[in-house]
Amino acid sequence: MDLDPELLQRIRGRAAGYDRANAFFEEDLAELREAGYLRVRPLLETARDQRLLAAHAPATALAVNMHHVWLGVARVLRDRGDHSLDWVLEDAERGELFAFGISEPGNDLVLWDSATTAERVPSTPGDRAGSQGGWTFTGTKIFTSLAPAWTRLGVFGRAETPEGPRLVHGFLTREDGHDPDGVTTLDDWDTLGMRATQSRTTVLDGAFIPDERVARILPVGPNPDPFVFGIFANFLLLIGSVYAGIADRALELAVEAVQHRASRRTGRSYAQDPDFRWRIADMALALDALRPDLESLAADVDGRVDHGPDWFRHLTGAKHRATETARSLVDQAARAAGGSGYRSSAELARIQRDVLAGIFHPSDTESIHATVAANLLGPIQD
Ligand SMILES: Cc1cc2nc3c(=O)[nH]c(=O)nc-3n(C[C@H](O)[C@H](O)[C@H](O)COP(=O)(O)OP(=O)(O)OC[C@H]3O[C@@H](n4cnc5c(N)ncnc54)[C@H](O)[C@@H]3O)c2cc1C
Repeated sequence: MDLDPELLQRIRGRAAGYDRANAFFEEDLAELREAGYLRVRPLLETARDQRLLAAHAPATALAVNMHHVWLGVARVLRDRGDHSLDWVLEDAERGELFAFGISEPGNDLVLWDSATTAERVPSTPGDRAGSQGGWTFTGTKIFTSLAPAWTRLGVFGRAETPEGPRLVHGFLTREDGHDPDGVTTLDDWDTLGMRATQSRTTVLDGAFIPDERVARILPVGPNPDPFVFGIFANFLLLIGSVYAGIADRALELAVEAVQHRASRRTGRSYAQDPDFRWRIADMALALDALRPDLESLAADVDGRVDHGPDWFRHLTGAKHRATETARSLVDQAARAAGGSGYRSSAELARIQRDVLAGIFHPSDTESIHATVAANLLGPIQD
């Protein structure tokens, strides 16, 4: 779909207000839903649109990302002949909003283990789920973007089973805007940046997911299951796209700024100053590398290209290059814009805070380097 330029301008116009008020991007979400933006599309199209959206409102784009990650996982599976998550695609077409309740405090194993407990509820008539079996989840999920609005929340937890420990992935359902039994969304989001995401803490206390909404039961530890590949591929490339969009905006703001600033020393515009010209060119040189990187990988996911063991190196690398380039470009834009960009009302000041969040999303810098080193050198010997 083409994002309507007028819609994008309205979204940009609201971003500062959401940030100042620490408010959820409710109007943006309503307009994006109305425009069909929450529907299912190929990853390449979604990645391009998310980049454009992020250039107008980083927090709105980052939060909407979480919805598109789950749609992307379901699409990866369907494209490879696994229809177990087709219901996700159908729910999304009906307007349901998916959020990503994966992160837990202090869990640097991220997807490879969970501090949340999953317990089996057998399918006996008369139990809390009627005749339906399922799993209960108890634990704390942090940074749940879209917290005020989700209607489907993907979570996972660790179960001790006779076959050994297992990770149970499933989706909670929220109806009529009320948290389901066993789920409490805290009102605790007050961060430096990405404020409109309202990525609040979600406390699970026996939250029940019926078997029909259980997506996967996997062994603890690294796993090549297509479900896991789908999460990595969609999450890392869409996160990279959001930060690439912030970098796009940083370059735009820097170009505008040097054209409006003039030197008292030379009497000329900074756009004519060799140092500032070099800086702008340097920004573009770094930025221009991101599009082919992110888009060729997204096209490979859509086209089912098999990079075998190199996939994780490519995917984590793309996230790393995009988030680090974005940080560097926003920093360079601040130098180009001068002191006016330091005012708390300046867009550059806001994206300076927003872009910092890129370093916290998985995969973090340490695990990215470990992944790439293992690809080249093999695992560390005991
Ligand atoms: C803007 C943003 C949006 C995100 N959205 C999602 C998402 O939708 N789904 C998802 O699974 N993960 C999300 N993440 C989480 C992210 O991917 C990391 O898991 C998270 O940043 C923690 O990483 P860590 O390992 O560095 O932190 P850890 O070392 O695990 O530390 C996390 C610590 O953060 C602190 N913390 C927890 N909640 C809050 C809060 N409300 N405000 C301030 N500090 C808090 C606590 O001290 C907690 O112990 C988001 C992160 C950011 C920055």
